[in-house]
Amino acid sequence: MKTETTIQSLNAALSPARLARKTIGFVPTMGNLHQGHLNLVREAKKLCDVVVVSIFVNPIQFGPNEDFDNYPRTLEADSQLLAEVGCDVLFAPSVQQMYGDLPRRTAVVVGEITEVLCGRSRAGHFDGVATVVTKLFHIVQPDTAFFGQKDWQQLAVIRQMTRDLSFPIDIVGVPIARAEDGLALSSRNGYLTDLQRKVAPKIYQSLTDAEKALRKKTQLAEVLASIEANLTKAGFEIDYVEALTPDLEAVNVFDRDIVLFIAAKLGNTRLIDNLLVKFA
Ligand code: AMP
Repeated sequence: MKTETTIQSLNAALSPARLARKTIGFVPTMGNLHQGHLNLVREAKKLCDVVVVSIFVNPIQFGPNEDFDNYPRTLEADSQLLAEVGCDVLFAPSVQQMYGDLPRRTAVVVGEITEVLCGRSRAGHFDGVATVVTKLFHIVQPDTAFFGQKDWQQLAVIRQMTRDLSFPIDIVGVPIARAEDGLALSSRNGYLTDLQRKVAPKIYQSLTDAEKALRKKTQLAEVLASIEANLTKAGFEIDYVEALTPDLEAVNVFDRDIVLFIAAKLGNTRLIDNLLVKFA
């Protein structure tokens, strides 16, 4: 596996593949890789000739009180894992390489669907994500890009942006990878104390309980209120418990698929999860 840290050297590394018209698969990440990330790479390997993974902790998607400085940076371990799953090129640029010295005056802003769920408590977060993914799409020029359903809203934002800006890129969503006890894998799980780690799977349990209740025709509002009450009792500080359509529209027909979304904090650690409930 090649590791490149500049746009120029990445272009040189990808040039033979581009000339040979090989398909390029791209997996953008912030590193501290786990099986969830590696599943994206495995999926990319299946569908594309050459797989590029980026590791870049993107400062402009973190709010002033968020964990940019403390975000886990584990490049050596990450590159070993990537080599093991057959990643061809790791792109690990510095902040300087991505943003340079000049002030940045351009942003990619996706409307409406960035204003719900995480967008309400993380002002500017999705503008930062859409902007960096746009830059990475231009830099890597992939045929297909892979994103996790763990960040369902992010996936929806990327799909919308790809359509709106006519990127010639297929977006593939990959199912959530979970620990044995159901907790969605996340780099932020490493912040949890042992005790918090034992409590954290209650998020997924409450999603699966909610699905069962919905299938027994319990009212949606009642189901959401019960998740909120149970998680609060277990020590979570709720950011939101909501149900939307897969496209993040309000739910008003109850025989269609819905996605249940939870964001909640345990101590200072914010965890998110979601579950697609299929009715169709
Ligand atoms: P991150 O490094 O957290 O920015 O995540 C990079 C990519 O990996 C995003 O597309 C995430 O949605 C995806 N991802 C993170 N955790 C998981 C997971 N547990 N299952 C599936 N995809 C994930």
